[in-house]
Amino acid sequence: MKTTPFWWEEAEPTHGERTFDQTRCDVLIVGSGYAGINAAITLAEAGVKDIFVVDAMRIGEGASSRNGGQIGRNSPKFSLAEGIKRFGEQRAREIIEDYDRSFDFMLDRAKTLTDDFDLNLTGGLVGAHSRNDYEALSVSVAALPAERRAQSRMIPEAEMKQYLRTDIYRGLMLRAEGGSVHPAKYIRALVNRARTLGVRVFSGWRYLGATDQAGRKIATLQDVTSSKSVTINAGKVLAAVNGYTGKEVPWLRQRTIPVQSYMIATEQLPLEQMEELIPHNRTVGDTKHILYYFRRSPDGTRILFGGRARFRTSTEEQGAVGLLKFLLHTFPSLEKVKLSHGWYGNVCFAYDFCSHVGRMPDGVYYISCCNGGGVSMMTYLGHRCAEMMMDVPDHDRGIVNSRFPQLYFYNGHPWFLPAVGTYYRFLDRAARWGE
Ligand SMILES: Cc1cc2nc3c(=O)[nH]c(=O)nc-3n(C[C@H](O)[C@H](O)[C@H](O)COP(=O)(O)OP(=O)(O)OC[C@H]3O[C@@H](n4cnc5c(N)ncnc54)[C@H](O)[C@@H]3O)c2cc1C
Repeated sequence: MKTTPFWWEEAEPTHGERTFDQTRCDVLIVGSGYAGINAAITLAEAGVKDIFVVDAMRIGEGASSRNGGQIGRNSPKFSLAEGIKRFGEQRAREIIEDYDRSFDFMLDRAKTLTDDFDLNLTGGLVGAHSRNDYEALSVSVAALPAERRAQSRMIPEAEMKQYLRTDIYRGLMLRAEGGSVHPAKYIRALVNRARTLGVRVFSGWRYLGATDQAGRKIATLQDVTSSKSVTINAGKVLAAVNGYTGKEVPWLRQRTIPVQSYMIATEQLPLEQMEELIPHNRTVGDTKHILYYFRRSPDGTRILFGGRARFRTSTEEQGAVGLLKFLLHTFPSLEKVKLSHGWYGNVCFAYDFCSHVGRMPDGVYYISCCNGGGVSMMTYLGHRCAEMMMDVPDHDRGIVNSRFPQLYFYNGHPWFLPAVGTYYRFLDRAARWGE
């Protein structure tokens, strides 16, 4: 089994520019994932010149070239009533609107990209872990506005096998909207679009922080190979570092919880078998606290299976062992299947499970907290943050500038995750008691 992402077989991250021939720019963006690159594209499309994107790794080497590539209409992990208590009515409604818009925004941005990235709008399934979850999904479908309701349908347990060859769920929700992308090709296509617009992308440079000088930011970058440093005089700085937030941004570190997320890819399997297991190439997720999600590879012949296999820092092999167990639980007929790849990447959670965009007290902008799913969301939030940086009228709404809770007595090391894992496993078991 290879311990690099399956996606890198066709689109391995590459290095960007390694030397700075100028040390002054209008905007310096730290992080070359979906969030940072999409912010760069919106800024460049609006005519901002001299945009630098820097990354400590290769371009897009963080979560943006390692994820499951599943996309769909997003909604926050809170109800409107909970949102109103936390943010007030107007802000809560705007946040829900932001989540909802992200999918359409990504599809619009996709139209501007010239490189293919295996966008398949084949729809998706959500497996109900318990009978209560099935009821809750049914209620959520019934509450949708009429035009959206037509896009979603509940599939009772007795009919489930026509849609997915497993018996681990209590029924399914079918969503016609949504599908998948090749995540590493998607970030590559975005980077190529940004470069066409004049954005310069540097790799192998770690941002160490910034000070103020005459209304501008003096950012220090360190070469990760030679430790040589350079200072960049930037009009504005944006940190789009999500699950890779380091000590360089202590304000964000106190508010964010990095979590390793694992994936495996199976060897190639006969197309007929794949069509029987996961018909019509739909993506699948579920309602558990420790969820599984899976899909077929773009050529349809492999299963790409992901989940939070472990809540401790672990190797790719340890993660793969856990995920293989889940895969076989889902599809027992794959008993003899071999894995071709097993890998992980970092996602980032906020204490309130909401995504956040804003400006830190030191004036550096941020986009943070995908909370596990960010292909379309971080694409959109890159755009929203760019609007904020350009002071576009009415930018201060929804996720932009929403309250970002701090975790007290926390310094960025999530020592409590194993206990959270145990608690979630308990909740998932308890959800089925008496069924
Ligand atoms: C295994 C896995 C599966 C997933 N599956 C899905 C899915 O199916 N659907 C979905 O919607 N989402 C999924 N996600 C989440 C999705 O990948 C992320 O939400 C998204 O890629 C985040 O993009 P980003 O630009 O915010 O962060 P990233 O792509 O992680 O980019 C952050 C970048 O910041 C750089 N960086 C950090 N600190 C510094 C510094 N000091 N100096 C320079 N550079 C720095 C890092 O090197 C990194 O490249 C998954 C994630 C993982 C890990």
